[in-house]
Amino acid sequence: MTTDPSSTSETLANLSREDRRFEPPADLAANANVTADAYEHAAKDRVAFWAEQAERLSWAERWDTVLDDSKPPFFKWFTGGKLNAAYNCVDRHVGAGRGDKVALHWVGEPEGDTRDITYAQLKDEVSQAANALTELGVAAGDRVAIYMPMIPEAIVAMLACARIGAPHTVVFGGFSADALASRIDDCQAKVVITSDGGYRRGTPSALKPAVDEARTKTDRVEKVLVVRRTGQDLGEDGWDDDVDVWWHDVVGSASTEHTPEAFDAEHPLYVMYTSGSTGKPKGILHTTGGYLVGASYTHHAVFDLKADDDVYWCTADIGWVTGHSYIVYGPLANGVTQVLYEGTPDSPERGRWWQIIEQYGVTIFYTAPTAIRSFMKQGAEIPERSDMSSLRILGSVGEPINPEAYIWYRKVIGGDRTPVVDTWWQTETGAIMISPLPGVTAGKPGSAMTAIPGVAADVVDDEGNPVPNGSGGYLVVTAPWPSMLRTLWGDDDRYVDTYWSRFPASKVGGMGYYFAGDGAKKDEDGDIWVLGRVDDVMNVSGHRLSTTEIESALVSHPKVAEAAVVGATDEDTGQAVCAFVILREEAGDGGEDIVQELRGHVRKEIGPIATPRQIMIVPELPKTRSGKIMRRLLRDVAEHREVGDVTTLADSSVMDLISKGMGSGS
Ligand code: ATP
Ligand code: MG
Repeated sequence: MTTDPSSTSETLANLSREDRRFEPPADLAANANVTADAYEHAAKDRVAFWAEQAERLSWAERWDTVLDDSKPPFFKWFTGGKLNAAYNCVDRHVGAGRGDKVALHWVGEPEGDTRDITYAQLKDEVSQAANALTELGVAAGDRVAIYMPMIPEAIVAMLACARIGAPHTVVFGGFSADALASRIDDCQAKVVITSDGGYRRGTPSALKPAVDEARTKTDRVEKVLVVRRTGQDLGEDGWDDDVDVWWHDVVGSASTEHTPEAFDAEHPLYVMYTSGSTGKPKGILHTTGGYLVGASYTHHAVFDLKADDDVYWCTADIGWVTGHSYIVYGPLANGVTQVLYEGTPDSPERGRWWQIIEQYGVTIFYTAPTAIRSFMKQGAEIPERSDMSSLRILGSVGEPINPEAYIWYRKVIGGDRTPVVDTWWQTETGAIMISPLPGVTAGKPGSAMTAIPGVAADVVDDEGNPVPNGSGGYLVVTAPWPSMLRTLWGDDDRYVDTYWSRFPASKVGGMGYYFAGDGAKKDEDGDIWVLGRVDDVMNVSGHRLSTTEIESALVSHPKVAEAAVVGATDEDTGQAVCAFVILREEAGDGGEDIVQELRGHVRKEIGPIATPRQIMIVPELPKTRSGKIMRRLLRDVAEHREVGDVTTLADSSVMDLISKGMGSGS
């Protein structure tokens, strides 16, 4: 797909109307971990900058070479260096006298089911699990699949794998047996760690049967290690003595003594499959040293983390990359105290998250736009019942945050005090790449602003030339960074092809540019606005329109909570804009004229060219498990096709609801 920057002007005018700015609070700016000079300092010598950041970690052996770029795009970082990721996340805090510090305030879904776990306890449990895995035959280099709810043992399992050098692949606990089996197969995992079940909206929901079913589809699995969480009956056929072992038997009885081995900086740490918003998930490989440097530096810089004072909470599931980098590796490497919550935001009642923030005095909160929009839909009264004055920084990740959602987040959740950091990154990038810095940047609602210190990103045209300010194009990373993916698991060719073939060295010089599919624009100040996937860009009568901008225009209407826009084939205009809209609850059914009202609103906000041909009022939108809207399925609906692959959809009944409603409401 090509982008002609000159013809995107139609959409750019809208965004430049956004002139709200939020300066950092004075005290935050005065005490910020990272100040404005970091950008220039890092840009002078990016490689040296990352070597400085690597000092944040504890290395068993120092590296010889910071960046080995002898075989692009197969970059290596900190070669010759050796370290243990679990040691860095746990042991060294205990060694430094912080063993009694709470690492995890775990909050189970059933009310009152909580556990506080100190770093010393975490060290013991991780050591026990490492010993148990070794006992089960797992050696360095073997892959282990983790398929668990959000319980402390999930983090223990990940760190235990890291400790013995066995790359983990965490599969979201809500995925089907098929999805689990295909991931097990793809990375050839020989052990699966799971639980009998987990809690979902007040009721136990089984997990172990899906592992059993997955085992009928792949013969890779030698052992299944099962945590007892719900105590639900597994049934007579639900246990295989040759394969299944209880966690409390083998981990519970193992020694708490375990000496971590130091692994090469480039030793594989994990394989994570992407969310699958655009198609079949890709097995992203991350290695140890560079990844940990990136996760820990960005967590320190972007959240201005003060490990002694902050209480941090990231609501992601560990089944996606945000859970890896910003629940497990970044925060624990930084020795933080954090909340870990098992359940859904609205169980047993809609204010649950805000009660947790009040109860634990959460200071830094990191969530996704999809969650924010669903709270907008329910109304401000619910969060307003809780005292959230402890909050000082709010983060957003996963999708572009619509300006209206940003404002709501800042005002209603953040009491109009807290900076909002809109963090752009991907499974592939391993860590945050583009984001405001809370003590430095005057935030603009809807913009991820600039690449963080040490990262080189740009927006380029088809030829790879930087577009001028005020224009749109492809979002690329122009220099290697430590936490970058190393390859796609077992498929180097696909790695080169997927990420490096659009702007190869032969075209743009240097080492080529990394491109993973997103479009963006630079505003008049040169700040970056992510506009969604280039594959989702619509072409209406020759005008290139971004989904994000039209969605944001819809969300800025007071009756709208959430919107998804796709381009559907149209005889007259090539493509036509089709919108799927969820109304705020206070708007009721929106009234008879709601569709006309919204059409008029988009026309006024953006222009006639963006006016939706069709607007469907829907109760829900199809989303991946990580909350991203799956536009390709909506495109199928809008073009009256059979809907495509729905295996990564959070709730498959949503598509039936939407398809049934099609034909009415426009
Ligand atoms: P797949 O690559 O399999 O289609 P995915 O891209 O949804 O799945 P992730 O790696 O979880 O999988 O998501 C990364 C994508 O999420 C980015 O490429 C971008 O499209 C979107 N994204 C993440 N954070 C932001 C943000 N702050 N602003 C805009 N978009 C974002
Ligand atoms: Mg992607």
